[in-house]
Amino acid sequence: MKILVINAGSSSLKYQLMDPETEEVFAKGLCERIGIDGRLTHKIPASDAKYEFDIAMPTHAEAIQAVLDALTSSAHGVIKSMDEIDAVGHRVVHGGEAFAHSVVIDNTVMAALEACIPLAPLHNPANITGIRACQQVMPGKPMVGVFDTAFHQSMPPRAFIYAIPYEYYTENHVRRYGFHGTSHYYVSHRAAAMLGRPIEELKIVTCHLGNGSSVCAIDGGKSIETSMGFTPLDGLPMGTRCGAIDVSIIEYLMTTHDLSIEEVMDILNKKSGVLGVSGVSSDFRDIEAAAEKGNKRAQLAIDMFCYKTTKRIASASAAMGGIDAVVFTAGVGENSAELRAKIVENLAFMGIKIDPAKNNVRGVETDISTADATVHTLLIPTNEELVIAQDTARLVAGK
Ligand code: AMP
Repeated sequence: MKILVINAGSSSLKYQLMDPETEEVFAKGLCERIGIDGRLTHKIPASDAKYEFDIAMPTHAEAIQAVLDALTSSAHGVIKSMDEIDAVGHRVVHGGEAFAHSVVIDNTVMAALEACIPLAPLHNPANITGIRACQQVMPGKPMVGVFDTAFHQSMPPRAFIYAIPYEYYTENHVRRYGFHGTSHYYVSHRAAAMLGRPIEELKIVTCHLGNGSSVCAIDGGKSIETSMGFTPLDGLPMGTRCGAIDVSIIEYLMTTHDLSIEEVMDILNKKSGVLGVSGVSSDFRDIEAAAEKGNKRAQLAIDMFCYKTTKRIASASAAMGGIDAVVFTAGVGENSAELRAKIVENLAFMGIKIDPAKNNVRGVETDISTADATVHTLLIPTNEELVIAQDTARLVAGK
């Protein structure tokens, strides 16, 4: 079976063609600068081949067409025709309370996705555009939506309700939704497999630490608490997002700097986080390099990020009344031994201890705990595309 996984952004579109059973990735790539000019990077993992093309992409439809042309090309393609693609799985950021699971896309689902736009004005319109473009270029092809929020729909009301007038929840849907759900789901299931225990018996804290970051408490396979909130702005500080702050800061900045609400929100989304504190970069590699050369603000950004992540791991454990495993994933979690070590440094009291030699690893599933640790610390590379492909295959098979 061949599933095309699509992750559409406002001016970019990532794709992977894969077999959800064997997990083989036939081809993957990225369309960039959609609506500006257009650039396609196409990779074939089996041969390590990489191709780059400038292709006009006025809209997402041309981008999808460029992807299909690349996949079926006689020179660098991996399939003979579009007919070999069984179905398309779309990553959708926000499913609101309407979607606690992935879903086959039909007109009713499209209407529900449109209804979620006010909840995710930065992300959902691009996802919807990606779906419509695929429908236009591949009419009749079965399509499935997989939501970043769905996995967290199991959170109990005490975890998702904000302490503001209740009507804002009932009338305006203001609540914690949480994001990165497919990643938290995937790594928690891999963690159970690595530990050789049923996920139903386990209390796992998963730390998705990348450009966007979130921590999730997964009790018996269900998300019961997560750090991102109504939007992905809440929780941990990130590459450019501020994470949880005192909301009064917004009014204070508007008044003292004569800024509009849009300008302040732009600062909190795009100029804050470790970029804002370090003044160096949103990329942890640059920040770690600057800190090593003695840049104090870069060091402060690292210290702040690790400190807040440490506290989140402890609070996620408290939410479950225990912890069996903590998982590190995504760009920072999979690659930075230094940050992993710093984050767990203060958690020995909970039985979380990592072995420096085992921790000296990147991007491979590894148990990095010491022999006497009572909690397993695991490094697990995430694979959101695989979850999307597997959900898509399952749903189009009617299961
Ligand atoms: P993601 O959003 O999961 O793709 O993660 C991207 C982020 O991972 C980048 O912005 C980097 O900050 C971080 N990253 C990737 N490789 C490393 C590394 N070797 N050391 C530290 N951070 C890294």
